[in-house]
Amino acid sequence: MSSERDFGETITGLAKKRGFFWGPSPEIYGGSSGFYDLGPLGKLLKNRLESIIRSSFVRANFWEVECPTVSQAAVWKASGHLDGFVDPVTQCIKCGQIYRADNLIEEQSPGARIAGQSLDELTESIKKLGVVCPSCRSPLGKVEPFNLMMKTRLGLDQDAYLRPETATTTYLLFRRFLTFFRDKLPMSVFQIGKAYRNEISPRQGMLRLREFTQTEGQIFILEEDEKSWPQFDEIKDNVLPLLPYATQQKGDSAPLKMKLSEAIKKNHFRNAGYAWCVNLAYTIFRSMGFAEEKMRLRQHSPAERAHYAKDAWDVEVLTKSFGWVECCGIHDRGNYDLTRHQEFSKEKLSVTVDKQLVVPNVLEIAFGIERPLFCLIDNSFQPESEARDTDWLRFPPEVAPIQVAVFPLMGKDELVGPASEIYDALMDLGLIVQFDVGGSIGKRYRRQDEVGTPFCVTIDYTTIEDGTVTIRERDSMEQVRVHKDELPQVLRKLVRGLMLFSSLK
Ligand SMILES: [Zn+2]
Repeated sequence: MSSERDFGETITGLAKKRGFFWGPSPEIYGGSSGFYDLGPLGKLLKNRLESIIRSSFVRANFWEVECPTVSQAAVWKASGHLDGFVDPVTQCIKCGQIYRADNLIEEQSPGARIAGQSLDELTESIKKLGVVCPSCRSPLGKVEPFNLMMKTRLGLDQDAYLRPETATTTYLLFRRFLTFFRDKLPMSVFQIGKAYRNEISPRQGMLRLREFTQTEGQIFILEEDEKSWPQFDEIKDNVLPLLPYATQQKGDSAPLKMKLSEAIKKNHFRNAGYAWCVNLAYTIFRSMGFAEEKMRLRQHSPAERAHYAKDAWDVEVLTKSFGWVECCGIHDRGNYDLTRHQEFSKEKLSVTVDKQLVVPNVLEIAFGIERPLFCLIDNSFQPESEARDTDWLRFPPEVAPIQVAVFPLMGKDELVGPASEIYDALMDLGLIVQFDVGGSIGKRYRRQDEVGTPFCVTIDYTTIEDGTVTIRERDSMEQVRVHKDELPQVLRKLVRGLMLFSSLK
């Protein structure tokens, strides 16, 4: 346990030192937990992840929208967040400290089965298990609901809230989507944007934030289309690391490698459309650079699920810092959301099927970007070794914040000129390139290893003679010479994983 904690601190320390993230923010005023600043490399990494997420959704036929992050109270009354988006809290009767009741019970009484307990049941559990205030050991009061939304105000007196998820704001556009998609279901849309949750006492740094960037894909779909989802045929033979609830009940935590078609046959998924969404979420995480053996898909127990959800699975990533980390939720939300907004807005949010009005279902893929960002740094960390006198980051080339570094051997015009041309050619290809002239080549390699740059290109005096440059690969630390006219295409293939560095030798 203590070594896990140390590793989490190692990663956070490294992230701060090298400019990935800083905080809690604002640091010079002491910081508020749950807020972090992204430094230059963290922002580059987040941009890379966002662009991978975006292209994955677009390839899967989703359209992107962007909605306001503040909405009037009526929206959150209808969505159920005003009444139901609460954490259970308890206050120490002596020192007045406030705690999240479920976390506190799990901390002081590991293994207690409290998932899905009501507020009164949690109060009972605290009494029964003898849970006390961690700071003064006094008894705790009744468990009360604490709403996680951040409240604000429009104009002088209209109550409004910062959105706790992007999904609800997407649902409000349902009638607009019907026009855009020419009344044809299913309709697939996604949104990437900020969301806010007023966590009571967020810990675990970047994993529990009060302000974060959420990605949520939604499919508006009819029940019969969920069952006969034609695209399922293309992915039915995909093998995924699945941990169904039935397996967890037997006490197993290792995922089963199972074909999706088999998982449907065994009733682990309700239907083909939902299984297709789970596969898409898994594919997005693989594209973000997570190794197969560091991932599993875990089904929620009925008690863990939101009351309206018909099924829920999570994508989990194995980290050295915190063990398995829940990174993404895939939900079958039924028609709960549209039904509620139809009722509260008095607008028709249904379609006509066989002369009957039907409110469509929603399938959802939802995740914050900061968690995978942290997990990727955790998974990429490589300690200092005999071969290399610094710890380094082994980001997959496609995801690395800087993909190529370009070095003129020395800061002389005859080298800087051709190096700048190469830099421009690589940037024109859409690669993220850094130009560095400072210090010895060895020091420059070291700096790039520390931030995980997969390839470095050096322009030297041989370049002027025969037009060749050196490419140095981060992982093997080996070098090859390539003609500068071929360089852009070679690097494009190396970064996209279409060519092995060893094939150049
Ligand atoms: Zn106390």
